[in-house]
Amino acid sequence: MNDLNLTTPDGELATVSTPVLEALAANLRGQMLHAGDAGYDEARSVWNAMIDRRPGLIVRCLGASDVIAAVKFAREHKLLVAVRGGGHNIAGSAVCDGGLMIDLSLMKSVRVDKVARRAWVEPGAILADVDRETQAFGLAVPTGINSTTGIAGLTLGGGFGWTARKLGLTIDNLLSADVVTADGELVRASTTEHPDLFWALRGGGGNFGVVTAFEFKLHKLGPQVLSGLVVHPFDDAKSVLQQYRKALEDAPDELTCWTVMRKAPPLPFLPAQWHWKEVLVLAMCYCGELEAGEKATAALRAIGKPIVDVVGPNPFAGWQTAFDPLLQPGARNYWKSHDFIDLPDATIDILDNAIRTLPGPECEIFIGHVGGAAERVAADATAFPQRNSHFVMNVHARWREASMDRACIDWARGIYEATRPQAVGTAYINFMPADEADRVEAAYGGNYARLLEVKRKYDPDNVFRMNQNVRAKKASKAA
Ligand SMILES: Cc1cc2nc3c(=O)[nH]c(=O)nc-3n(C[C@H](O)[C@H](O)[C@H](O)COP(=O)(O)OP(=O)(O)OC[C@H]3O[C@@H](n4cnc5c(N)ncnc54)[C@H](O)[C@@H]3O)c2cc1C
Repeated sequence: MNDLNLTTPDGELATVSTPVLEALAANLRGQMLHAGDAGYDEARSVWNAMIDRRPGLIVRCLGASDVIAAVKFAREHKLLVAVRGGGHNIAGSAVCDGGLMIDLSLMKSVRVDKVARRAWVEPGAILADVDRETQAFGLAVPTGINSTTGIAGLTLGGGFGWTARKLGLTIDNLLSADVVTADGELVRASTTEHPDLFWALRGGGGNFGVVTAFEFKLHKLGPQVLSGLVVHPFDDAKSVLQQYRKALEDAPDELTCWTVMRKAPPLPFLPAQWHWKEVLVLAMCYCGELEAGEKATAALRAIGKPIVDVVGPNPFAGWQTAFDPLLQPGARNYWKSHDFIDLPDATIDILDNAIRTLPGPECEIFIGHVGGAAERVAADATAFPQRNSHFVMNVHARWREASMDRACIDWARGIYEATRPQAVGTAYINFMPADEADRVEAAYGGNYARLLEVKRKYDPDNVFRMNQNVRAKKASKAA
């Protein structure tokens, strides 16, 4: 091993000598990697192929002691730090150029207490790991809709999917977290221990420390849920969206229905003449008895003249993977997102036009359906502010060739700008791309000032800055 020149938060270089690096490696249960080592490229790759960063050093942690060692090392040598959970973040904030990446992806344990209905989850677990272990006992914690997403980043940003309307956001089910703070101390955050930190962790992202374990409350769910897709020709989109909006006005908490608008992939249940034609998909899940689900979904399923209706009983853990094939890692991606209370006609018109002008076959617009139990938590009870939005639009520009960057990014930005007047103004930080650093304050609305206070207390030097950053001090060059 040679001396390494590593990047500081100010973009300067700090030389770390070979004996110092060897001492760190010797002190780890896990592994230390740098450029050229086997596994280095795999460890630095994230979901969004637009992100191609090369950390100077990667510490692949196996436990809290490795995280403590890595944080103390970074402090001592004044290094830029990135923290990687599942590596799914659109902004690519899990990886830094030149600095130290604290890689948690090998820490995947999920331990369930089926009697107490609690789960202890390590930060490298993905949603599939959590669903697998909890559903073995007919239990669940609400998470997101793509099973390869990391539980860590999803939870720290808020977390919602098919079950949030019934069971609350992921953070509403977080009971405690073990956190390595910026000074390398391990603390437990809960409503009784470091409650200010616990408040901020629930929506405030990776700003406050490295979470080494999450404790979640579990709920009975499934194992079968009524779920599936109803696919409509896109020519009917306006009318379908208006009826969708109406049908959801009185939806029970158990019912969640997202819309997906895109060119239809060649799904086996879809007649061949519809493959790669524009469609609108109503994707629904009922978190309750199957029979009650049939009744609750009837109004949605009666809308228009669908091409196909494949709603039926499915294992919950299986339904959680339904969108995985469309959301594989390796493509170039850029997202733009808004929160909406409702879906006004003006928004529907813009979406209609957007799908008729798709720049590529994988570009799509998702509209997440939230509210219900998630809405009944006060906006200042956790750092996550946008409790009263019923719809979260996420414009997914997704493509393969760098030559398509401009067209795809401009398409997403155009929809974002056009729909801005109807949007609430807050935003889900987990859907924000890297160029939205200036939007963080607005994203947190009335909770930003308190987040800043907690940041000043737990990370005054902004060690944890590779995230949707709550700036404790004046922004430095690398922030
Ligand atoms: C295909 C896809 C589908 C998605 N679907 C949903 C959805 O249905 N619902 C939803 O709510 N979100 C969804 N998301 C968004 C998702 O919640 C975020 O991308 C989230 O940041 C992913 O977490 P991660 O651990 O995989 O990411 P990473 O990229 O590893 O981390 C994200 C951020 O969290 C920080 N971080 C990670 N782990 C820790 C830790 N242990 N301690 C402190 N900081 C940490 C990182 O430094 C980084 O800033 C989706 C994302 C993708 C790409």
